[in-house]
Order: sequence, then structure tokens, then C-alpha cells
Amino acid sequence: MSEEECAVQDPGKIAIFDGHNDAAQHLVEYREDGRDFLARSEEGHLDLPRAREGGLVGGLFAMYAKAEHPRQGDFVRTADGYEVRLAEPLDPAYARRTIDAQLSGLERMVARADGAIRCATTVDEIEAARRDEVFAIVLHLEGAEAIDADLDGLAQLYSRGLRSLGPVWSRPNIFGHGVPFAYPRSPDTGPGLTDAGKALVKACNQLGIMLDAAHLNERGFWDLVAISTAPIVATHACAHAVCPATRNLTDRQLDAVKASGGVVGFNFSVSEVRPDGHRDPEILIETVAGHLSYLVERMGGDHVALGSDFDGALMPLPLRDASHLPNLIQGLRAHGFDEVTLRKIAFDNWMRVFRQTWR
Ligand code: ZN
Repeated sequence: MSEEECAVQDPGKIAIFDGHNDAAQHLVEYREDGRDFLARSEEGHLDLPRAREGGLVGGLFAMYAKAEHPRQGDFVRTADGYEVRLAEPLDPAYARRTIDAQLSGLERMVARADGAIRCATTVDEIEAARRDEVFAIVLHLEGAEAIDADLDGLAQLYSRGLRSLGPVWSRPNIFGHGVPFAYPRSPDTGPGLTDAGKALVKACNQLGIMLDAAHLNERGFWDLVAISTAPIVATHACAHAVCPATRNLTDRQLDAVKASGGVVGFNFSVSEVRPDGHRDPEILIETVAGHLSYLVERMGGDHVALGSDFDGALMPLPLRDASHLPNLIQGLRAHGFDEVTLRKIAFDNWMRVFRQTWR
């Protein structure tokens, strides 16, 4: 793929709020070999200068504890795709330490930014930050292992700014069962939410914390639909009908998201975007825009948003970092999207769901 094909096309920047990134794991405030979020880097996908270049005005920042003791050989190639062995449960004490360290790292980074970044807990705060040209961070917990069954930790995290939570990552915990990564395969891979998981959903509804169906298996998804009183959201996912990976949502699931008034944050991860499921970043922006347009055809322009997975997945070359976001907007324009729909997808749809969910 030539440099020209991947160069940033920018005929009028559009403000973007993104539904998912993993930058918190890479902060220098969190780990010694991490990156300075305030300085422009060529590594990873997201920092403040590249966000500004790309029109990214804020996003959900995931706090996530990866495996304490990573295993080898979990990825297995199959005749027509791949399977990844289901990850083991985390030690809750390790998860609590990790999430606390990541949240503290984010807090120190915001403090060091000297007003250039704010941690937002309301839509008014996000919109004020946008007007003030300040970057807005909303705290998200990806996998709730740091919270005990008695849910004490939930209130503590809420008081520190948490407004979004995925009960599981792609592994089991006391709340439910994450979907293991595989292609091609149905997301119906195991049991649904546990009783503790159902209690967690109710507690989040009461506090006004958004619930994220990304990484849930299909039964967990339907349990969430049955219990939650808030719009159903998947912060970073794509369409199973286009790319039949377990992490993507079936047409029935997309219809349920729409019926609830929720949104799907379109995931840029090549393994979930590419119809062939290959982990190959050589993918044209037309292909990416075509996949996103399937979501819009199925659900309508009010129910699709963005959920890049920057700093957490392999990006398509034309969207290789946050500074390249205008390429997606331009690709969608070329696909026939009007400006009103583009603004909904880029910003307004997330705000509507936040307003309906947060209190
Ligand atoms: Zn994820």
C-alpha cells in the first residue's frame, strides 16, 4: 500500500468522540517504559497531539488488567480462520492493584496536562471541554474483576469518575463469561451472566454507569438486554454478517441495540473489520467504510458511533493512528454519507446515549 493511499485527507475536520481506546495501559505514569501522552510519538496510536491533528476531542479511556502470567500458544490457526484459547480468570487482588494503578496514572496525567485534558462525568462537561478545546476523558472499566461480588468497589470507582463498564473482557469472571476470540464462529460460546453479573447490571443502572456489551458472549448479551433499563451499547464491535468473528454482533444483536436506543462503536481492529478475518493491516479505507455502512444500513444513522480500539488492536494502515481519523470521515463521505449523519456517528450519538444513561 503506497504512502499516497494512506496520507491524511482533510477537507474540513469533524469533531470525533471515540468509544474505546487502551491508551491508559501505555502511559508513562503507569509503567516506566510507557509513553508521554502529552508529547507526539510515532509509537502506538494515540496521544494528545495526534488526537488534535485528527479532530479527536475525547473518548472513553479503558482501564484493563491483562493476564498476570501470559501463556504461549493460545492462538491456533484453523482450516478457515483461527481460535484463541479462552483466557484464564484473573486474581481479583491483582486486578484491583492494576486498575487502581492505571486510574492513578490517568489522574496524574490529567493533572500534569495543566488544563489541556479534563476527566468528564457529564455530557455538559464533554461539550464544555469541546468548546474550550480541551480534550475530554471518560473513564471505562473493561472487565470488572477489580469489583467484588458485594459491589463495594463499584461505588468507589464511580466516585473517582467511572461512567462506563464492561462486566467482562474475553475471559470468565464472577459476573459472566467473555467471548473467546475465534473466526469464523458464532458469538454463542457459553453461559450468560451469573447472579452477581445480573446484580452488577442493576447497580450500574442505579448509579448511572453505562454498560458495555463488547467482549460479552451472546447469552450474556441477551441477559443484559433483558435486565438493563439503559440503552444497550457495544463500545467497540463490528458486524458479524460482514466479518464472522466472535467479537462481532449478529444482525439480531444489532437489531436489539437499535431497539434499545443504543449504539455500536465501530471497531477499527483489522481482525474484526476484514471480511476474511486476517490480521493484516493492508486494507483500503473503502473496505472499512463499507463495513461501517453495513451497520448504518441495518440500524440507521442514530445507532452507529466510533470505537477505534486505538492502542489495543492492529489498525488498518489508512487509520494507523488518531491523526489519520479524517481518512475515515473522508471515506464515509465518498461512500455517500451526508454531513448530518457523519456528525451523529462521530459525536452526537454517543452524547445522546450518555445523556440517557448517566445521572
Ligand atoms: Zn477490547
